[in-house]
Amino acid sequence: MFADVIVDITHSEVDKIFEYSFVETDCQVKLGSRVRVPFGAGKKVEGIVIGVKETSIYPVEKIKPIIEVLEETPALTEETLALTDFVCKKCYVTKASALRLFLPSEMRKGKIKEKFVKYACLAENYTLSSATEEIKKTAKKQLEAVSYLAVVGETQLVELAEKFGRSAITALAEKGIVNIFDKQQLRKPYENINTGYTPVQLTAKQLEAVKTVQSTDKRITLIHGVTGSGKTEVYLKLISDVIESGKTAIMLVPEIALTPQMFRQLRARFGDLCAILHSGLSAGERFDEWWRLRSGDARIAIGARSAIFAPLENVGLIVVDEEHDGSYSSESNPRYDTIDVAKFRAEYSNAKLVLGSATPSVDSYLKATTGEYGLIKMPDRINGKPLPRVEIADMRGEIRRGNNSPFSSALKSELEACLNAGNQAIIFLNQRGYSKTVVCTECGHVVKCGACDVSLTYHMEDNALLCHYCGAKYKMITSCVECGSKFLRYGGTGTERVVKELSNLFPNARILRMDRDTTQSKEGHFKILSEFSQKKADILVGTQMIAKGHDFPSVTLVGILDADASLHFSDYRSAERTFQLITQVAGRSGRAGETGKVVLQTYSPENPVLRQAVRYDYTSFFNREISVRKATGFPPYTKVVRVLISGEDEQETLEVTEKAYREMQKTYAENIDKFRFFGCMKAPIKRLQNKFRFQVLMRIETEVADLICDKIYQTVKKYNGKRVGVYLEINPNNLT
Ligand code: ADP
Ligand code: ZN
Ligand code: ZN
Repeated sequence: MFADVIVDITHSEVDKIFEYSFVETDCQVKLGSRVRVPFGAGKKVEGIVIGVKETSIYPVEKIKPIIEVLEETPALTEETLALTDFVCKKCYVTKASALRLFLPSEMRKGKIKEKFVKYACLAENYTLSSATEEIKKTAKKQLEAVSYLAVVGETQLVELAEKFGRSAITALAEKGIVNIFDKQQLRKPYENINTGYTPVQLTAKQLEAVKTVQSTDKRITLIHGVTGSGKTEVYLKLISDVIESGKTAIMLVPEIALTPQMFRQLRARFGDLCAILHSGLSAGERFDEWWRLRSGDARIAIGARSAIFAPLENVGLIVVDEEHDGSYSSESNPRYDTIDVAKFRAEYSNAKLVLGSATPSVDSYLKATTGEYGLIKMPDRINGKPLPRVEIADMRGEIRRGNNSPFSSALKSELEACLNAGNQAIIFLNQRGYSKTVVCTECGHVVKCGACDVSLTYHMEDNALLCHYCGAKYKMITSCVECGSKFLRYGGTGTERVVKELSNLFPNARILRMDRDTTQSKEGHFKILSEFSQKKADILVGTQMIAKGHDFPSVTLVGILDADASLHFSDYRSAERTFQLITQVAGRSGRAGETGKVVLQTYSPENPVLRQAVRYDYTSFFNREISVRKATGFPPYTKVVRVLISGEDEQETLEVTEKAYREMQKTYAENIDKFRFFGCMKAPIKRLQNKFRFQVLMRIETEVADLICDKIYQTVKKYNGKRVGVYLEINPNNLT
């Protein structure tokens, strides 16, 4: 017999299928098995069997045999193999790198294995009395151990040894009275999560939503429900029905920060039937959770975007919560769009796909209004509470009045009132660190990263300058490196500084900060969020990771410090992002009890997007935005495609860019009416991690974009090499 194997090697040059042989009686080699195979001169590598067949076109003596099968159960299923093909084609990556999405990384190269623990029990052919007869009356400890085992049953060896002494247990084992054996110990994440499920009666609106999803003949349904409208209970009911029918389900949430919260709800309801997959788990936990899904012990997968690759079979439902969220598109290779993968997966296993959001992406909403998706609207909060009132604070006026602090006077007085009433507040700001930049007041020099063309952020806690792009850390300077001046200015406020200024203003307030820096540790997100929800703090300051999904009943005030930051991004989605962000953050306020308030600080209070966001007027926002996109030729009417070329040698990279660009021009000339834009230039960040960056940008009519992109990929992929990298990106999240 012969097996087609993809070897686990990164170079694109080996994106080939290799044939290996195996003996038929060795039935362990199956489709999807991980195997070890000989490769090249004397090397052994891991690979995945993607096909099994009886004949080969190659001469038999040329085909090497498989060395070993790594697990009895094939790691991949037929479905995941089909998905791999899809990812390969859609994301323009090799099979080997697509396959990696489906396996916990620690599993590859055998870095981690199941954890076994030694247990002991009374041997099968013994009862308490027959065992006691064989033990000397003087061997007290042995007698005690036997009676213990007779009552308690199998027990961990270390525990027994502690109670009765190691030698007693060894003696019993030698006599054959006690059996010692290995038992797999599952490493369970969030064991300490407190669960407790109180069933809720679904409202008429929720029931209607559930029925609609279940009875529609549409594959995909969009639930547009305001924050607090009870979407989660709708998902849970859908999942529970799917599980009851014997199928499996995948539940996706946008951020790692949100998974423990959703996991808690799922676990409370479904117990060990659900498994969590995310990068914040320990390697062992991730491995075990993955296998619980693969083996069918767990049938609900929950996690951030990568959980879409969960090793489940017979999927009946996929839920993508906060579907508009940017984190659903992966920004490193393979650059996949989670919703695309979810669509394929739903189609493949005839499952329903539910997308939910308070602020759907313009793309999804268009599809829902044109009938491609089903649309369910949940316009009211579950408890009938109104959405919080948003007040705009004009920061230009504040500056004129001499207020240079990050807080408007409106926010200050609201904060005071909120704290005095014993309530909690959230302050949102999408900039971590102390100050975004450090600028010399004499010569205007901005401190930059040595490896990237970006300014450095000052982090007071480390007293260091950090590059947020490559992670490099530099000593803080005391004088300008250009002119030697001692007068340095901090430009742009970050979360650290906000915390400092808040504690000056409110010395008695307990403040928590949540951003990437404070959530590095395992379960870091979880700790901060649970402290805040247990009211161990009064104010939570954070970046976008606090914006979404969290349900804190005591929060009655939300401050949005710089609503403009995302508005002036040079990206066609900046209006969409701003609207989404404001709605999401505002939605954290007044979810229970008192009506919430929001203070939104801006330098452009007249901006129409801000005006719409303040009124939660999604429909007006959508109508305006979609007409702008249509008129200017941006997605969803076109696809934004970028070929990014980067390399350490600027001249060489430029030459490759020009060659590739010239060749691409042919495709452009042949399809000129399908292109809305085509141009070649330096990337906005000209240098990153010591690599110079150039780009060819285009916008292609959506209907033909896939076809043309395939052509472009065929054109440019030969330029991708060791010294200069060429990448094709479709609707990238940011064009830095
Ligand atoms: P969304 O996900 O739409 O923002 P949630 O699902 O978080 O909203 O629901 C908001 C709040 O309403 C939560 O505290 C939830 O426990 C509560 N809730 C949801 N459905 C019901 C119901 N049928 N009865 C009572 N409370 C509910
Ligand atoms: Zn200077
Ligand atoms: Zn850098």
